[in-house]
Amino acid sequence: MNAISDIAIVGAALAGATAAKTLRDEGYDGRIHLFGAERHAPYIRPPLSKGYLAGSDDRASIDVLDASWYLDNNVDLHLGTRVSDLDPSGSVTTDDGTRYRFDRALLATGSTPRRLPIPGADLDGVVSLRTVDDSDRLRDTLQRGGRRIVLIGSGWIGMEVAATARTLGNEVTILERDPVPLAAALGDELGRFFARLHAEHDVRIRTSVAVESIVGENGHATGVRLADGETFPADLVVIGVGAVPLIELAERAGLDTGDGVLVDASLRTSAPAVFAAGDIAGAVHPLIDRRIRSEHWANAIDGGTTAARAMLGRPVTHDAIPYFYTDQFDLGMEYAGFAPLTRDAELVYRGDPASGEFIAFWLREGRVVAGMNVNIWDVNDDIKALVRSGEVVSLDALRDPNVPLDSLAASTSAR
Ligand SMILES: Cc1cc2nc3c(=O)[nH]c(=O)nc-3n(C[C@H](O)[C@H](O)[C@H](O)COP(=O)(O)OP(=O)(O)OC[C@H]3O[C@@H](n4cnc5c(N)ncnc54)[C@H](O)[C@@H]3O)c2cc1C
Repeated sequence: MNAISDIAIVGAALAGATAAKTLRDEGYDGRIHLFGAERHAPYIRPPLSKGYLAGSDDRASIDVLDASWYLDNNVDLHLGTRVSDLDPSGSVTTDDGTRYRFDRALLATGSTPRRLPIPGADLDGVVSLRTVDDSDRLRDTLQRGGRRIVLIGSGWIGMEVAATARTLGNEVTILERDPVPLAAALGDELGRFFARLHAEHDVRIRTSVAVESIVGENGHATGVRLADGETFPADLVVIGVGAVPLIELAERAGLDTGDGVLVDASLRTSAPAVFAAGDIAGAVHPLIDRRIRSEHWANAIDGGTTAARAMLGRPVTHDAIPYFYTDQFDLGMEYAGFAPLTRDAELVYRGDPASGEFIAFWLREGRVVAGMNVNIWDVNDDIKALVRSGEVVSLDALRDPNVPLDSLAASTSAR
């Protein structure tokens, strides 16, 4: 293999910045171009719907790396610069027509909020949340308190924004198409658990509704109308109906795509010099031999790290157990495991969900495929180890809080 002297990373956010950092940590001293369409240096998004939105986390705390790191480590950070074309044989072109050659490239272009094609979605006062600029705008309104906030969609971001908005003293309504919030992620039983949490904090949740339009006056949203004519007055409407991976660049470059950019277990795309990581990468997970695409923070870190090593020719496999977390009101939760395997899985609890402190396990054929700890800490590595072990576990032991979890997965490691 020829020596690598030029690496281009497209997408200056968590996966991209983690990859740049890993390249330097691994001793790579060649050129790194890091291109970001946003004007901000790489930052992390989870606080945008939680502490940053609430005003408790300051701006510096959400940076992926210190502002000086890029200069100190000789990384060419091109902010406000969109890559418009990628030639898999070795170059990227930016919006202003400049071409940069590469020996290896990493695509880490992330996701964008799914649009809701209904009348009124483009009115002022209708927002979605992806960037720090979105969060700043939302925060301006929420922090005034006493506003009527209507959220369309009860996914993770919708539920988190609802919790933050309510905590800041706003009147909050969630409109959800499905019968139970978060059911797609957690199933009905645990989805209802989250619905109850919100109801206890006076968030109004209306499920099984069909949103027809956003109504407005003088160009500004004033409410959300359902198909049956019922209208929910709103000062601000937040659309949170999921995200779609930004794969156009990969598609135009002729890379294999499907649900995301298709990569192998080392995160290499169908073009040998091009890798993909973070939200856009759909990789076959070696443990379950199934392609998964994870839109979560930990996957951007793990993927950025793996892809950087793979670009340098190290023998690596992207095989971390998928992980994510959420904070809503006084609830903190961590989840580890394979969500696609939890459908029809057996649900087993350690602790009583009504107490607000418990662990839920999803099992298939006696094996833990996912687990979620709610307001219980320092157990998630043990849950990951259980999932990784693939061993049949005793249900009684799983349920019994006196049996240490690490004794159930003693022979395996957490990652
Ligand atoms: C509000 C919010 C809350 C979240 N909360 C959680 C949470 O609690 N837990 C959790 O696990 N995950 C959470 N996530 C998800 C997590 O933030 C994402 O999985 C993570 O940001 C993915 O990182 P990424 O680097 O792959 O992509 P992104 O963070 O989407 O970044 C991609 C970057 O690439 C840039 N880009 C795109 N196309 C181009 C181009 N052609 N040229 C140049 N640049 C380009 C984009 O502008 C963007 O800055 C949350 C996300 C949001 C939005």
